[in-house]
Amino acid sequence: MTDPDVQDHPVSSDSLLKLDNVVKAFTSRRGDVVRAVDRVTLEIREGESLGLVGESGSGKSTTGRLALRLLSPTSGTIYFRGQNAAGFRGADLLAFRRQAQIIFQDPFSSLNPRMRVRQILTEPLVIHGLARGREREEVMGLLDMVGLRPEYADRYPFQFSGGQRQRISIARALALRPRLMIADEPVSSLDVSVQAQIINLMRDLQAQHRMAMLFISHNLAVVRHLCQRTAVMRGGQIVEEGPTEELFRNPQHEYTRLLLDSILTPEPARYRDARTEDGGRRTEDGG
Ligand code: ADP
Ligand code: MG
Repeated sequence: MTDPDVQDHPVSSDSLLKLDNVVKAFTSRRGDVVRAVDRVTLEIREGESLGLVGESGSGKSTTGRLALRLLSPTSGTIYFRGQNAAGFRGADLLAFRRQAQIIFQDPFSSLNPRMRVRQILTEPLVIHGLARGREREEVMGLLDMVGLRPEYADRYPFQFSGGQRQRISIARALALRPRLMIADEPVSSLDVSVQAQIINLMRDLQAQHRMAMLFISHNLAVVRHLCQRTAVMRGGQIVEEGPTEELFRNPQHEYTRLLLDSILTPEPARYRDARTEDGGRRTEDGG
């Protein structure tokens, strides 16, 4: 953004994802038009973590879905690695699908109840024709990465706790070694005691794999712990954006101040070193 050479180009050179003046309008059954996302411009650079915060209904999930091409914008442009994502077809689209992954809030509905963990983790590899003949090792590696025991590979989702299920969702997303992870309220459905463990896991994995992350949350304490930059959303618009620490220390926008006053309950001691939730020990070769 600050490089004078790229001023006339909307995307900076290390840009991974950029939303440029994106609008998403929905029409209700009664015919009212709602701009769920209203002229949003956001950029995530390679390896960077961006938090997207705002109250319920502010347009966060819609933004995440637009970024992944799960929805198409009403207007505006989404760039992935400098290319207009709307134009992806065939091999480009497949590559995009591999490089951008999402984790949802509810690990109960996002895992197929009829599949064993082994199948859940190998399915993306099969779809993308990766790791052929090495599926077993891949599954073991992924389980280790997320702090789950190898023998869990043969279990079904219902045999796990919410936190463990979210670990499985994370492992599945990592199977394709994405450059971008979008996490939409990934801990909001979990017990408070488990949330910090999952947050710390995501933080470690993001650093280890140098993945970029769009972390959507209404919990400011979590975003502060996890994200280098933070964007505040309200009524479909970004009202403020900046380096996380700066934004927390010196919020410029009235709404950000309100959010900080009303919701912020930092408990930093919780967010520390909780690699596994059930004593499942990691082996040496992780990371
Ligand atoms: P958040 O994730 O911040 O809670 P959402 O992106 O889910 O917000 O929703 C933003 C607004 O868009 C809300 O008013 C919501 O009702 C509306 N909305 C989201 N998805 C749809 C849809 N598929 N059809 C109609 N309205 C929608
Ligand atoms: Mg949402």
